[in-house]
Amino acid sequence: MADLNSSICISSLHASAVSLIGEEVYDSTEKPNAAITALAEKKLGGKTVDRTIIYNPDAVALWVWQKYTEKFAPAMIRSDIAMPMLSVMPSVTPVCFASMYTGVMPDVHGIKKYEKPVLTTETLFDRFIKAGKKAAIVSTKNDSISLIFLEREMDYFIYDTPEEVNKKALEIIDEDKYDLVVIYNGDYDGTMHKFGPESEEALARLDKNIAFYAEMVDKIHTRLADKNVFYGFCPDHGCHEIDGGCGSHGLDMEEDMNVIHFYGIKTAE
Ligand SMILES: [Zn+2]
Repeated sequence: MADLNSSICISSLHASAVSLIGEEVYDSTEKPNAAITALAEKKLGGKTVDRTIIYNPDAVALWVWQKYTEKFAPAMIRSDIAMPMLSVMPSVTPVCFASMYTGVMPDVHGIKKYEKPVLTTETLFDRFIKAGKKAAIVSTKNDSISLIFLEREMDYFIYDTPEEVNKKALEIIDEDKYDLVVIYNGDYDGTMHKFGPESEEALARLDKNIAFYAEMVDKIHTRLADKNVFYGFCPDHGCHEIDGGCGSHGLDMEEDMNVIHFYGIKTAE
């Protein structure tokens, strides 16, 4: 059977973000995403980025973009790159976000199943902090991103709902106090588990995720006009429908392993 999996792993985000702030990329991590490197060369020359703002909507599969492409128009027109990305196995949230932000595979960072211990492996947050930069996470209570990156010298803004998360995230961008901001929304994932990936309920949450990303990028353009900013729409894994009209993920199958990422670099005006 043809292997239709994407060729660039989500773990490349770590090294891309490290390299864009002018810090050394270690051989121990996945290498930077070549498309982002090429974009940075074209847009920034040798300059670095001042701000890194990553939006992590949960479970947005590549096939969802392929099938509901029009919905993504607001995200596409605000990004420089739309590209298929490969998740890691098992394709569940804490495993995937651990790989995305450490740049290493589950065997190395240690989260190999659905569990949410605090990571001791060096993360993107640690690299920013070591470089004297300030980092923040804006997320919902008890979710992977709210737990596995704890115990760092950074700020955590944890709320009950994605609406509160998104409101705070826009405020943070407005205040411009952080060099790295990571924002998590788990509502598409939560809804698709219950009603299926293509249910009206889940697709309504997807629309909200895309609308937030659009608002986030617009805010970057207006509020951070004088900054070079690297930003992205970066889901962790995909999803597939299972019996009973529910949704699931976690398997080594195209639907779960291939995700859609959008990336952009806004240059200082
Ligand atoms: Zn997830």
